[in-house]
Formats: sequence, C-alpha cells, structure tokens
Amino acid sequence: MTSNNYSSLSQVLADARDKHIAIGHFNISTLDSLWAIVNAAKAVNQPVVIGVSEGERDFVGIPVISAIVSAIKKETGHPLYLNADHCYSLDSVKQVVGYGFDSIVFDAAGKSFDENIQATREVVDFVKSSNPDLFVEAEVGYIGSSSSLLDQLPTGEDNQKYSTPTAQMVADFVAKTGVGAVAPAIGNLHGMLKNAKNPDLDLDLLDAIAASVNLPLVLHGGSGISDNQFSQAIARGISLIHLNTELRVAWRDQLKITLEQEVDTIAPYKLLKPSQDAVYELIKSRLMLFSKVST
Ligand SMILES: [Zn+2]
Repeated sequence: MTSNNYSSLSQVLADARDKHIAIGHFNISTLDSLWAIVNAAKAVNQPVVIGVSEGERDFVGIPVISAIVSAIKKETGHPLYLNADHCYSLDSVKQVVGYGFDSIVFDAAGKSFDENIQATREVVDFVKSSNPDLFVEAEVGYIGSSSSLLDQLPTGEDNQKYSTPTAQMVADFVAKTGVGAVAPAIGNLHGMLKNAKNPDLDLDLLDAIAASVNLPLVLHGGSGISDNQFSQAIARGISLIHLNTELRVAWRDQLKITLEQEVDTIAPYKLLKPSQDAVYELIKSRLMLFSKVST
C-alpha cells in the first residue's frame, strides 16, 4: 500500500495477472467522459486507469488532470490510476514527472527495434532516477499511433509497416530496457479500420510471449476486438487493456443524435449528458467482461 492507502498500479496489475482478469484503461479529454469512467468503475467495483495522451494532455492541462483525478480519488475513495499515455519523446515524459501520474507509456515503436530499445532504456533510466514509484510501459512491434477511424493499416517513421515481434524480441526488449509492463503487437491496432474488421489477435504469439516474459502484458488498441478474443487474450496473460477509439465513436455518435434532437438546448451539460451515459454503458460492459463480473 502506498501512503494514500491505495495499492500501487504495479501491485494492481500483478494481482490482475494472478487472477487472470484485466484492468481497463480508458482515455479522456473531457470531464463528462472522466465521470463516465469513474462511475462505471465504481458500479463494477474495479480499479481503473485513466489515460491522457499527448494531445489529450495539451487540451486538458497536465496539472489540471492530475488535480482533478486526485480530488475525485479523495471524494469517491475509489482506486483510480492516472497514465500519461503514449509519450513519444523524453521531453514529453519530463513534462509529466512530478504531477502524480502512476504510469507512463513510452512509445518509440514507430522506430526500428534497436532504436526503440535505446530510446526506451533512456526513458526508464530517467524515470527511475526521478520517481522510482512511477512505472514505464512500452510497446514492441508497430500498431500505429492514431485513435481514429483508419482507411488502411498504419505506417510509421521511414514507412515502417504494421508488424508483430517474436516472443524472443519481446523478452530481449524487456531485459534490455527494464520496463515495468510491455505492450507487444499481437494483431491489435490503434484505431479502427473504416471499411474492414480489425485483424484477429495472434493468440499463439501471445502464449509464446507470456511464456517468455515475467511482466504484466498490455493490450493497446482494444477497440474493434470481439468479446471472445478479449476473453482469450485475458486468459493467456493480458492484464491491462487500453480502449480509446470506440469510446470516441460512442461519444460522438450520441452527440450527433442529441444535437439533432435538442435543437433549442444550449447548456453544454445537458447536451453532453447522453454522450456521458453512452460512454458509461460501454465502459461498464467492457469492465464486466475484463473482470469477469457477470451480473
Ligand atoms: Zn495505445
């Protein structure tokens, strides 16, 4: 337990791994979505991770999101964790250290495998020397970087193609970088394909990776993955699942309907409430699936 009586996020993930369940990670850039996450996590009685990407942090403000999450933790007593999602540079990591984040996702997966190792090692060294309680998660294999609707599979720097690593590469990456959790590409994708189903997860690869690293495994790009694939991935060792795109889609689709129906309403909180409810329902159903709650 840490001084605020919450288990640390690494402890929560270790427990999830032992229980063969997964913790949910959901991104936000507005207060209505933040409350949707908190209320859904309370309803299902599960800890939850709130993610803010670089773009989301720019919009909300790093000290602001930190203070708000800390205030909600005090008010609700619910275990909430704050993640600086997808930092693409050491500078971006430096901006969040000292603001009470529980974890950092460092993402150099758009670079070559060796450059990814080198850049991640540098970030892990910096974070360990600044705040040893903060843990770093990183990505191996390239799954794109955009939580949006895509026309085709993503490409990275130097035209890097969508790719999955071998289990040996993931083990090497973990040993050489010292990360606290790793998100290997196993067929998952950031964003959702507009005109096709997202690829299936490679569950044999996940088995091989789970057998070769002794760390929490993270699944990014959870949008567009079927319930059955989620359950199989969790059974095989995924302990944390990131979702963003499908929350954005639910939020926007509902907002469009609301704006069409409520032509005379101008109060933002009235216009946003149906979107908040839609995001709440989606998160609640995902958390129930991830934590095997069956009510
Ligand atoms: Zn991600």
